[in-house]
Amino acid sequence: MTQLHLDLKKLTHNFTTVKGRLKATTKIMAVVKADAYGLGAIALSKHLISLGTDWLAVAYAQEGVTLRKAGIDCPIVVFYPQFERIDSIINNNLEPALFSTAFIEAFATALKQKKRMNYPVHLKCNTGLNRIGLSASEVDDFLTKKNDYPFRLKSVYSHLGASEDPRPNTFTQKQITSFLAIKKKVEKTFTNPPLFHLLNTSGVFNYPEFQMDLVRIGIGLYGFANRAEWDQLLQPIANLSSRVVQIHLVQKGESVGYNQGWIAQKESRIGVLPLGHADGISRQFGKGVGGVWINGKRAPIVGNVCMDMLMVDLTEIDCEPLDPAMLFDHLHTAHEFAEQAGTISYELLTSLSPRIQRVINS
Ligand SMILES: *Cc1c(COP(=O)(O)O)cnc(C)c1O
Repeated sequence: MTQLHLDLKKLTHNFTTVKGRLKATTKIMAVVKADAYGLGAIALSKHLISLGTDWLAVAYAQEGVTLRKAGIDCPIVVFYPQFERIDSIINNNLEPALFSTAFIEAFATALKQKKRMNYPVHLKCNTGLNRIGLSASEVDDFLTKKNDYPFRLKSVYSHLGASEDPRPNTFTQKQITSFLAIKKKVEKTFTNPPLFHLLNTSGVFNYPEFQMDLVRIGIGLYGFANRAEWDQLLQPIANLSSRVVQIHLVQKGESVGYNQGWIAQKESRIGVLPLGHADGISRQFGKGVGGVWINGKRAPIVGNVCMDMLMVDLTEIDCEPLDPAMLFDHLHTAHEFAEQAGTISYELLTSLSPRIQRVINS
């Protein structure tokens, strides 16, 4: 009943739009972590490969293994490799981002034990986000010892923490300056330097002059870019729809849902939709926050969202059981839906449960 429709034509549009803003030589890494932002990594990755993405990127090794098992054999970067997954990274030819000196040593040791040489790796630098990454001095240490490692350094990168914020932005400027200093040093130590990259989706729109050799695009592929004027250039690829499974007539003073989350102020018609907080529609919705679209009208979500269902007020809407209900689509976007509950499209999309059927439209 509840379905997430994915439009591959729109994915193509977004990929082409981003590519169109880049130099012809800039490569693209399509970020399909967290099951392609909750939309379904296997199908979308295959399409992205057909569009010519140079890399895929996942967060954790298991996600890369899932793609390998599905027969995907393009280069896959693991952004946040875990020590306990090193064997599985190597056995599946995944390319880790080396983010700490401890991880560099552990990964080198594992490769030596397996008698592997020239293993493709990436260097992740911390330039101010203070999440994961090597400090400038740890990069120096790496460069001093680089010939002792069984690595082939394919790229060096950092991640901006506020790429969507209006320019000029001193925080971002500082990050860029730090990264350019690292870049210079790395270039000096290699006769054949690796690729350098810094930008995510909003970075491509806001700081195109720093696209360097490669950009890492996640949310933009799925149709959002963290600012209204950029969003307009993209097309949300996912529509979430459901159906009204039952309609109740409730009298003035009667309540709806757990803990009497909503009390009818007048005789009302209440519709039940088969999706709830276990499906990613959090309890931040409900009690007047958020609404769904039924027969062209907005039906507010009333009461507390349940685990498997939610209720909407249909009093002002002409509708019958089994009529379709749209939670978000290209007109009423996931970004707008998320915003009503104080969150962002990233969190809403990645929370959509696997039990919502994914339907691919090509
Ligand atoms: C998730 C992620 C991206 C993609 O960011 P978007 O804003 O979705 O384009 C890029 N780089 C890194 C390191 C990430 O973790």
